[in-house]
Amino acid sequence: MLPFAGIPSFARSPLESLDSDWQADVGILGVPFDIALGYRPGARFAPRAIREASLRFSLPPDGFYDLRDRRVRLKGLELRDVGDVDVPSLEPQLARQRIEAAARQLRSKARLPIFLGGDHSISHPVLRGFDDKENLHIVQIDAHLDFSNERDGTRYSNSSAFRRAAEDLPNLKHITTLGLRGFRFDREAVAAALARGHSLVPIWEMDDLDRTIERLPEGKDVYLSFDVDALDPSVCPATSSPEVGGLSYDQAMRLIRGTCERNTLVGFDFVEMTPHLDSSGNSALLAARLIMETIMAVFP
Ligand code: MN
Ligand code: MN
Repeated sequence: MLPFAGIPSFARSPLESLDSDWQADVGILGVPFDIALGYRPGARFAPRAIREASLRFSLPPDGFYDLRDRRVRLKGLELRDVGDVDVPSLEPQLARQRIEAAARQLRSKARLPIFLGGDHSISHPVLRGFDDKENLHIVQIDAHLDFSNERDGTRYSNSSAFRRAAEDLPNLKHITTLGLRGFRFDREAVAAALARGHSLVPIWEMDDLDRTIERLPEGKDVYLSFDVDALDPSVCPATSSPEVGGLSYDQAMRLIRGTCERNTLVGFDFVEMTPHLDSSGNSALLAARLIMETIMAVFP
């Protein structure tokens, strides 16, 4: 079926309920929550925009033929779409509880759970659903650190997701953050992240990407959190808080592939895309392709 026809589930995968009994390789869950943004709203529309764009990459049972290594990829992959968390926007604590519960359920069913944000604050409740994963490592690809104790009177904004996760999860061992380049850094957050031994990799230390990949964890259970503002705004303009001088698509994919090849990916979130800020729809298409390629990196 052509991409403009039919009802959009992610890559035209079968729909499942989190309450029914099934197992799959990959599960897709939308988390349309964006009231924790510090600037332009609209990331709540990203799960739907990504699903619609993903129809261009719908997964046939026979898989894709990949020119890079001239073989068929993802043949027989069991991909399921479980729809969205029902998020009560004006009850953020209840929203976080529902997100955590859904993340826990999806983990029990899918070998690779994928979470479509939403703003970056969703990573905190999603990660709480990984509280039983021993020695959990995070690879965060982001222009910003998101390790602030508070911002403008709230402790649960998209600037604090990993600070709250680090407080709540004794099993969270380490965070590697790549692509940092925000203009106004929270000095206390940088000090707190370094005090915990986190690896902070600013964009100006990433000219040699092979050496950057060597700074990624190795042999660990890794949760990958991809904030689209890590990409250059010329590549992906659809984000709340763009920062100039970012990654190309190819650089981002090399970092993601490096993360997946060196480690076991146990979860993946894709956040901070604000689709209506790119009326061409290209940012959503990029998102769908990046997610498909990440799946290919985990299921080679
Ligand atoms: Mn972020
Ligand atoms: Mn960011």
